[in-house]
Amino acid sequence: MNSRTEQRIALISVHGDPAIEIGKEEAGGQNVYVRHVGEALAQLGWQVDMFTRKISPEQDTIVQHHPNCRTIRLEAGAVEFVPRDNLFAYLTEFVDNFLDFQRKNGVNYPLIHTNYWLSSWVGMRLKKIQGSKQVHTYHSLGAVKYNTIKTVPLIASTRLAVEKEVLETAERIVATSPQEKEHMRSLVSTKGDIDIIPCGTDIERFGCINRQAARVQLGLNPEDKVVMYVGRFDYRKGIETLVRAVAQSRFRGEKNLKLIIGGGSRPGQSDGMERERIEGIVAELGMSDFTIFPGRLSQDILPTYYAAADVCVVPSHYEPFGLVAIEAMASYTPVVASDVGGLQFTVVSEETGLLAPPQDEAAFAVAIDRILANPLWRDKLGQAARKRVETKFSWNGVAAQLSELYTQLLQPKVQEQEPVLLSS
Ligand code: UDP
Repeated sequence: MNSRTEQRIALISVHGDPAIEIGKEEAGGQNVYVRHVGEALAQLGWQVDMFTRKISPEQDTIVQHHPNCRTIRLEAGAVEFVPRDNLFAYLTEFVDNFLDFQRKNGVNYPLIHTNYWLSSWVGMRLKKIQGSKQVHTYHSLGAVKYNTIKTVPLIASTRLAVEKEVLETAERIVATSPQEKEHMRSLVSTKGDIDIIPCGTDIERFGCINRQAARVQLGLNPEDKVVMYVGRFDYRKGIETLVRAVAQSRFRGEKNLKLIIGGGSRPGQSDGMERERIEGIVAELGMSDFTIFPGRLSQDILPTYYAAADVCVVPSHYEPFGLVAIEAMASYTPVVASDVGGLQFTVVSEETGLLAPPQDEAAFAVAIDRILANPLWRDKLGQAARKRVETKFSWNGVAAQLSELYTQLLQPKVQEQEPVLLSS
């Protein structure tokens, strides 16, 4: 039996529930990251409890994913969805309920891995109260995000202060790309310990089906030129850039061009406005007849979509990592992405796909067309993409690196030895 079987760790993700359906409302990469890291760590022998905030009375309080891995939903404020920018006020209650859970269950977490700035505040409190060691992953940096949006929310100054404090006080910060580490250093603080451990993906799930079979399953023709996006409907994801790029494609007049825009909930939910706006642009540009909005795609069907596509486009204005890029790459599909953040790390331009300046629809159009025009090159890029994910971005590899880090942090410090004086 593994020596770590009794070692408990807590992953905290206040607003990103690891047990929820991915792809709608605010659920995205963070949820996927916490869930996969938790499960992979459990496979390695850790006892993993993932804490999140309960947002509906119908939700189970505890969801068991694996004998050693579960999601625990704590109450903080009303049991309803609250946008992340309004959650800070409820964090004290989250900490109280976390401590209460520990007391009632007779457990204590010596190491807490927090996700996103809200959870980092919870981790810092627990460190002060009970000396838990803290590892933190940002998922998004306020200092970068606020540079890319016009209206800065009221919570901005609190977030920036919390992000600086955690960088300077956590036992270790996990940056998911060298670009993210560089942003922490140049925009947040020069103090603090940072390791680079990337996000990962399931290399068995993604890449399990070939293009031909995937197209048959989705009712697409072998000669179709398929461009796809999948992700949350959020203005910063840059879906508009993709739509306007495809509008300029030289394949536009041909009958076999298909644009798939996956993800998102129904109109009326918090991401519905962006979806309506994008559907409006598609209609205005006369693209409705070849654009498909399949809605949220489950992790079961996603490998089929990625495999069916000739190219997957990630047009984000900013992306700290960008799981979609490595999922497509694992599926042998090249990626055209914005030349920003973690995408500069995952996508090697001209080798596994192409990078284009963010929000530059003309550059995106050229990049997409280059891949659509040359199926042999597309396949070559796809093979190299798969190889890059296998060597750098598998969940098991990522979890092994995290496991090593936790083990190192949990080791009792060796006391400095007094020099032994030899008597003559
Ligand atoms: N996703 C999904 N179904 C959808 C839309 C998105 O499963 O309909 C998943 C996607 O596969 C990826 C995650 O949501 O794992 C999005 O992560 P990413 O890092 O690309 O973006 P984020 O949402 O964190 O900004």
